[in-house]
Amino acid sequence: MPDILLTTLNAKYIHAAFGLRYLLANLGELKARAGIAEFDINQRPLDIAEQVLARNPRIIGFGVYIWNVAPTTEVIAAIKRVRPEIVIILGGPEVSHETAGQKIVELADHVITGEADLKFAEVCAKLLDPAEPGTALPKIIPAELPDFANLALPYDLYTEDDIAHRIIYVEASRGCPFTCEFCLSSLEVPVRQVPLPAFLEHLQRLLDRGVKQFKFVDRTFNLNVNVSKAILEFFLARHRPGHFFHFEMIPDRLPETLRESIAAFPPGALQFEVGVQTFNAEVGGLIKRRQNYDRLEENFRFLRANSGVHIHADLIVGLPGESVESFGAGFDRLIALGPQEIQVGILKRLRGTPIVRHDAEWQMIYNPNPPYEILQNKLIDFATMQKLRRFARYWDMVGNSGNFIATTPLIWEDASPFAAFMRWSEWLHAKTRRTDSIALLRLMELLFEFLTAENRQERRKVAEALWSDYKRGGRHDKPGFMKDYLTDDALTSEARAKTALPKRQARHLV
Ligand code: SF4
Repeated sequence: MPDILLTTLNAKYIHAAFGLRYLLANLGELKARAGIAEFDINQRPLDIAEQVLARNPRIIGFGVYIWNVAPTTEVIAAIKRVRPEIVIILGGPEVSHETAGQKIVELADHVITGEADLKFAEVCAKLLDPAEPGTALPKIIPAELPDFANLALPYDLYTEDDIAHRIIYVEASRGCPFTCEFCLSSLEVPVRQVPLPAFLEHLQRLLDRGVKQFKFVDRTFNLNVNVSKAILEFFLARHRPGHFFHFEMIPDRLPETLRESIAAFPPGALQFEVGVQTFNAEVGGLIKRRQNYDRLEENFRFLRANSGVHIHADLIVGLPGESVESFGAGFDRLIALGPQEIQVGILKRLRGTPIVRHDAEWQMIYNPNPPYEILQNKLIDFATMQKLRRFARYWDMVGNSGNFIATTPLIWEDASPFAAFMRWSEWLHAKTRRTDSIALLRLMELLFEFLTAENRQERRKVAEALWSDYKRGGRHDKPGFMKDYLTDDALTSEARAKTALPKRQARHLV
């Protein structure tokens, strides 16, 4: 039984908790007295408390994030009722800022704010020292920014089970030099780079153990071009079918030297998450996010024309100064650049972020409960924000999923994609009254009805688009509602070949 238990509630089982592994790797002599227990937010808080208590720890470290703060509070409340002597230490972005008044903070014994990789070990050593049982420790303990050179890297802590079933997270740098006011990373200057030789050794070990898919959590992977090129070249030299690498990139920085390496990867091997957030330069100025839109567009065009990169681009709804029309114009501009996915995110008011300075002037009203999404502002009222929320959800189901690659453009044809998709979104909501759990076949049938009855498009053309999309997912059964409109040729043509890439991205490849 470990004296120290590191735990968290992941959003999904496949998300291995990267932060906990860093804490464990850096516990020094206490590592032998510590263990990790991971849960996910779909488990019942009391069941989690039961499993934690069964390990009989003296100290429990909880990783607290926006997605788990509510159930984690319940878990801790139960543990403290049953075993009040167990020391609870919190860490993570959700408790690193604005700690006053948070229920979870009230329940805990200590909160380490900031990057706790080394501080957690220091605090545990004091708490477990019989000569000095930590009684003098304050409740809120700020962590000094650790130097990467002093950190043990956690990659050997990924188990065989993690490698077989979960996403493997890695990081080459921490922090971001930019100042986007909605983003927690804007507070994390300076940017620090992991010592590259040691990092590459760990990547090699992971490759040798069979890891095929790596998710880099660096906020701006392409900031240091020499380092990002070295990492890309490292993977390129070792490329095998099924390898897949995810990076977050800033969109207006793609110098020639990086382009060469990127273009050399086979289609589907790289995924770039590219934060555009807004195409409105005035809004960008308000939130201190300045980007060169000409260069951004040129980089998108390069990636689409000369590489097989899967682009996942982000836009945000609800920023101060951004009207529906301005957001819609930005959405249309992004569609024209052809990324495979567009994540339409609803602005969140994250603890500690300076976006709050706009609250009065732009009448920003946020949901008080996590994930603290905007409910309305001066330019977008609540009812309209709800429509945009549905738009985002349906866009994910239709535009992003890869299930409707041929059919989605039929929704707008030559019209504004934003306006046309909004029409479909509201029509769909009126029909279903829900934004989740719509089965794929039902969604196809609804799309067929909308496009043929509402948009008056030719039945055969719509049926063929839907059928080619359906086969892309490896399905062969012919949905009855469109059988009559498909020719024999369309029905007998081959479905796509199998690939080891993630399913959603693989559908976009065809
Ligand atoms: S949004 Fe991206 S570029 Fe801006 S501060 Fe956050 S991580 Fe940095």
